[in-house]
Amino acid sequence: MADASASMSNTPGNTIVMGAGPAGLCSAYVLSKAGAPVTVVESAPFVGGLARTIRRETEFGEFKFDIGGHRWFTKNDELNDLFKEVVDDELLWVNRISRIYFDGKFIDYPLKFKSALTSLNPVVSARAVVDYGVSMLRRRFSDEELLTMEDRYRDQYGNTLYGLFFKNYSEKLWGRPCDQLSGDWVKQRTKDMSLWTAVKDAIIPSKGEVVSLIDEFMYPRDGFGRFSERMADAVEASGNQVLLKHPVRKIVLDGNRVKGILVQTEQGEQLLEAENFISSIPMTVLCKITDPPAPQDVLEAANSLDFRDIITVNMMFKKKQVTTDTWLYVHDKNILFGRFHEPKNWSPAMVPSDEYTSLVVEYFCTKGDHIWNMTDEQLVNQTIKHLVEDLHFVTPDEVIGGFTLRATKAYPVYGMGYEEPLGKMKDYIKSIENLQYIGRGGSFRYNNTDHSIETGMLAAKNILGAHYDLEDVNADQEYHEMKKVSPAQVG
Ligand SMILES: Cc1cc2nc3c(=O)[nH]c(=O)nc-3n(C[C@H](O)[C@H](O)[C@H](O)COP(=O)(O)OP(=O)(O)OC[C@H]3O[C@@H](n4cnc5c(N)ncnc54)[C@H](O)[C@@H]3O)c2cc1C
Repeated sequence: MADASASMSNTPGNTIVMGAGPAGLCSAYVLSKAGAPVTVVESAPFVGGLARTIRRETEFGEFKFDIGGHRWFTKNDELNDLFKEVVDDELLWVNRISRIYFDGKFIDYPLKFKSALTSLNPVVSARAVVDYGVSMLRRRFSDEELLTMEDRYRDQYGNTLYGLFFKNYSEKLWGRPCDQLSGDWVKQRTKDMSLWTAVKDAIIPSKGEVVSLIDEFMYPRDGFGRFSERMADAVEASGNQVLLKHPVRKIVLDGNRVKGILVQTEQGEQLLEAENFISSIPMTVLCKITDPPAPQDVLEAANSLDFRDIITVNMMFKKKQVTTDTWLYVHDKNILFGRFHEPKNWSPAMVPSDEYTSLVVEYFCTKGDHIWNMTDEQLVNQTIKHLVEDLHFVTPDEVIGGFTLRATKAYPVYGMGYEEPLGKMKDYIKSIENLQYIGRGGSFRYNNTDHSIETGMLAAKNILGAHYDLEDVNADQEYHEMKKVSPAQVG
């Protein structure tokens, strides 16, 4: 069990947490468990942020949708225990089957050597192997720096597999060519996961440790949003507050400390004061709302970094199942969406009954671009067209309906040279004594929920007397989809 009280040296004064996504709620949950006063302020009328679950009542019953399927996975036992403690009797274990839909075939995702090569014609397979050999030799004999996302993928998979399996999808996700993106994202997400490790593990399994892909995960029965909802319930049950519809407009500074935050309420603006502040609101926003304002170079840094947005098209069907997949990645350039998942494959409670299913279809976009500017009706119709005519996954008469959800600031973009402006913003926030930044957008780091809540948990522990450096979270270089266990742990 996550033991928040262990590191508590004295009872701190009031803390204000900005943002009621999983990270902010985790801070509040840990502080509440330790008996410390805390108030969460959230701009939306609901909790959960990007990790919330939407409910849709229809004449057939209730459908539930995450904003893109959210599985719980972590290598950190303390976080795992916290997740289990919060979700408690609603916890399910789900088998993971993720595939890439490529050229009419299904290929294992993350890319597995055998599955990838057997799906290609023999000439292309041979070219993929030769290309990979070339990239291995280059790595051995050249000290060329791998700067871009393209460099990193080519290095890890060779030119052919990069072109077939990574280029299109990455460009759909990020909306710009891979040679204009930093290699850090690949380093963070797929370090040590290359064709070579896949071959090596298939032929000679490692002796000291066994490296395995994660093929099972935890999920709350009624949608991932229940994790946040239950944390919020626990915070309120302990006598603390979660204030919805309270957007933070200004961070009011007094020298190098935060004096209070100005929030918008139905009655007008209100100054909330506290001793400690934790922010999970996007870092680029935070740096622009301090009063007095941040130095010009920090404001310019904040303006130079951006996020990728997402629209999910939530489709409902009178059909038992569309695919057996947890996620399906669609690389085809002619299909506008990048990925979808079938909530029923995660939990039967996500649909009204076994007669029905649904899909959450993800369109990666940037506010104002051609996808963002499509109307909701156009997006639903486009989705039906792709599913019916291009993929042949459903027939028109099986469609019950669909609706869209638009979420901004979903993915921090690691453009080339992003480190410098990010460093400037961080230095500025760190110069404010009683303010910590946490989470995904809050740290401008591609954190999954586990790393997001880890920063939230550690920030709370710091307030309780500990001295954690939140920069250490998600800084390990091991591939996040792999877990190293000792042979004794392998059952
Ligand atoms: C499509 C998609 C799929 C994902 N899949 C997974 C997955 O499978 N597994 C996984 O672990 N993670 C997944 N994630 C990542 C996960 O969503 C994030 O790690 C997590 O939501 C981050 O939590 P957070 O609290 O830092 O931020 P958020 O969830 O973004 O919450 C921030 C909160 O701050 C609020 N806020 C913003 N500005 C203000 C303001 N001015 N005043 C007050 N409140 C404000 C927002 O409304 C929001 O509620 C996925 C993300 C996406 C986009």
